Amino acid sequence: LARNLDHLAGLPAETSDGHRVRLWVNTGLMADVVRSLERGAEGVGLYRTEVPFLLRDRFPSEEEQREIYREQLQAFAPRPVTMRTLDIGGDKALAYFPIEETNPFLGWRGIRVTLDHPEIFLGQVRAMMKASLGLDNLRIMLPMISGVGEVDAARVLVERAHRELLDEGYEVALPPLGIMIEVPSAVYQARELAERVDFISVGSNDLTQYLLAVDRNNSRVANIYHALHPAVLRALQEVVTAGREANTKVGICGELAGDPGGALLLMAMGYDVLSMNATNLPRVKAALRAVRKADADHLLQQVLVMDNADEIEETVEEYLKGLG
Ligand code: PEP
Ligand code: MG
Repeated sequence: LARNLDHLAGLPAETSDGHRVRLWVNTGLMADVVRSLERGAEGVGLYRTEVPFLLRDRFPSEEEQREIYREQLQAFAPRPVTMRTLDIGGDKALAYFPIEETNPFLGWRGIRVTLDHPEIFLGQVRAMMKASLGLDNLRIMLPMISGVGEVDAARVLVERAHRELLDEGYEVALPPLGIMIEVPSAVYQARELAERVDFISVGSNDLTQYLLAVDRNNSRVANIYHALHPAVLRALQEVVTAGREANTKVGICGELAGDPGGALLLMAMGYDVLSMNATNLPRVKAALRAVRKADADHLLQQVLVMDNADEIEETVEEYLKGLG
């Protein structure tokens, strides 16, 4: 799988027996966009809006945001672009909006911040919807959802922003609304959450961190941060099952989707959309195209009964070696 993979850009992301998944990309900077399109990305599963906020020394105005978002939407149109509302806090701090906490990953993060500051949230979603005028490829996604109340509150704001824009004469469509599943409570309420939204997307980076209680950025505990830990795999399987039962589209946008072995397991679990860093896309596509769906299903069944992460990692590693 290490050979030159440029020729894959125009080929479909499907197994050798024709099971198709969608390979999308995670973006933040405009530089990501060019690479993504070159590699044949079919959409954006996660545009991290905090990136342009992190590059400034003050909050960008609604008009500045509109211009930045327009560039993203336009570059990918007609492909869908999933814009996540501001996910600051945790390890992502804005110099001009300091958050001092002893336990930031369990503190004021993501949707918690923007629901407490509706003016930030409204400005963002207004800018997104204005930017989508005439393109209609926008999807809005909420980070760090831990219960249904946050979804309901955010929806009220999105609908309010949409009504305001119509009143102001912008003929914009109300975009699909989705959430990230990245907090353990959301795994256990995946069904109820999925019923409330148009799509769900697993943030496996945070979900792994919170399920295993292992800081994703702490090198001292990096050896016990296992995205293929049996508990994580079980959670991933439960989420996709719950989403499908609710008839809601289910994707994943954490690093695991960009790992060839992880991607095979996720495909076998039933994930429709795998969103990853553009760098990993060709490798993942090559792995998917090299397997039969039934073989990936078999690998999944094999690892789902294993009780330790090292054994799972070795098994997946061996399997990939076997693909050549
Ligand atoms: C995640 O948590 O997996 C995710 C995709 O979001 P971020 O890495 O931006 O926290
Ligand atoms: Mg996250």
